Amino acid sequence: MKQALLYEGKAKQIYATENPNQVIMYYKDDATAFNGIKKSVIAEKGRLNAAITNHLFAYLSENGVPTHLIEQLNEREQLCHNVEIFPLEVIIRNIAAGSITKRLAVVEGTSFTQPIFELCYKNDDLGDPLINDDHAIALGLITAEQLAQVKALTLKINTLLQARFDEIGIDLVDFKIEFGKTTTNEIVLADEISPDSCRFWEQTTARKLDKDRFRQDLGDVTQAYEEILARLLG
Ligand code: UDP
Repeated sequence: MKQALLYEGKAKQIYATENPNQVIMYYKDDATAFNGIKKSVIAEKGRLNAAITNHLFAYLSENGVPTHLIEQLNEREQLCHNVEIFPLEVIIRNIAAGSITKRLAVVEGTSFTQPIFELCYKNDDLGDPLINDDHAIALGLITAEQLAQVKALTLKINTLLQARFDEIGIDLVDFKIEFGKTTTNEIVLADEISPDSCRFWEQTTARKLDKDRFRQDLGDVTQAYEEILARLLG
């Protein structure tokens, strides 16, 4: 079923299938941080992120969010619609952590009065710089109409994910998602939603259950990812 390797990123590989409208996404154990400067392997990460993404994309899809996911094929592979990814990292921040604490001198853990919607231009050479809506449109990365759809979907995804994680005792601090355009011009959620791309804090203890354990050398990285999956599967 899996054919030529089309693309290899830091954490995943994309393979062609016999159907040009479908691809297979393979989740690796490789981990990078700080724009690729810190590199390692996190045991079982690929399997855990595939399972977490599968669960969350199914939940979002049941609640009216279109996604690229067709089906989970095995522990590390998902069959997906072949989409053209917008070169944008779409970020939502509910609680201050990471880069915004430095950029705007906000104390980590501060709750924002409303979710902050951010865009970064996906460009490794530039270090994925923060841009605004006008930059994205004027650079031709996305149209104004598409961006309005992306923003509405992102805010809906945030509301749905916050509710889902609240049920399992976890605060959704922030997250990064990506969108793609199908061959029929539909905008769909793509890529992954996992502890690699979100910050999850345990409500009772403020324990970090995400990639910050790797970034900050906090230890027990695999255990944190396992904990997220176990709680989601209940
Ligand atoms: N994020 C991501 N990929 C990136 C950059 C950020 O998945 O290349 C996620 C990150 O895990 C966090 C959110 O986006 O959940 C906001 O990240 P931030 O801008 O604070 O950057 P960081 O401090 O992670 O470099």
